[in-house]
Amino acid sequence: CGIVGYIGHREAYPIVLKGLQRLEYRGYDSAGIALYDDKNLKVSKTKGKVADLKAKMESELDSTSGTLGIGHTRWATHGVPNDVNSHPHLSNSGDLVIIHNGIIENYESLKKELTKRGYKFESDTDTEVLVNLIEDVIAKEGVKLGKAVQIALNQTVGAYAIAVFDKKKPNEIVVARLGSPLAIGVGKDEYFIASDASPFIEFTNNAIYLEDGEMAVVRRDKGVKVRKIHDDSLVDPYIQELQL
Ligand code: GLU
Repeated sequence: CGIVGYIGHREAYPIVLKGLQRLEYRGYDSAGIALYDDKNLKVSKTKGKVADLKAKMESELDSTSGTLGIGHTRWATHGVPNDVNSHPHLSNSGDLVIIHNGIIENYESLKKELTKRGYKFESDTDTEVLVNLIEDVIAKEGVKLGKAVQIALNQTVGAYAIAVFDKKKPNEIVVARLGSPLAIGVGKDEYFIASDASPFIEFTNNAIYLEDGEMAVVRRDKGVKVRKIHDDSLVDPYIQELQL
């Protein structure tokens, strides 16, 4: 029920972890974090509290370094609360990493189609279907991640706030919103993503609140490009100054 992300020059882990703690009030049953450090993708997730996730991460990972990270607190809708169903979810290749709040209502028919095309699923979630749908679009159409997310979302019915990255192109995070809140904190060559501004307010007071039906490609060095998911028009993002 909460989303946090960071891409920039600082260590992502403490920002993402603290952000998840600030979003705990939204309620959840599981939590998870993915970090990328320019060589390794590290994913930890668990049923339980953010404190349990912290303990698990710090015991199972050699290092929590990395300047790209995303984190999630889950309120299970499809699949019981357990470690496997917790987010982040990976695509079959292991390259794409997603977190998602909301529901993909037509996930069963999409899953059937993807299964026919050879995709395998570890979890019972609708979210794992979405990340593989995005992977399948990239494989079939050879488009970039942002475009692939847009094409995939145009095949879904439902509600979402998502953040997804490709470990082979670790300079960007793609986010989208329909029916679940999503804010982007804008710093200097660094960006924050969260369900509300509380995870990043200490770092920046500039925020873009995505509107329903909008997505953004957030690039470490090139800024934020916002467009409409359904009609592809570019949106001039309104950067709101938050009152501290
Ligand atoms: N539908 C997804 C799941 O059950 C996301 C739930 C949420 O909003 O946390 O895993």
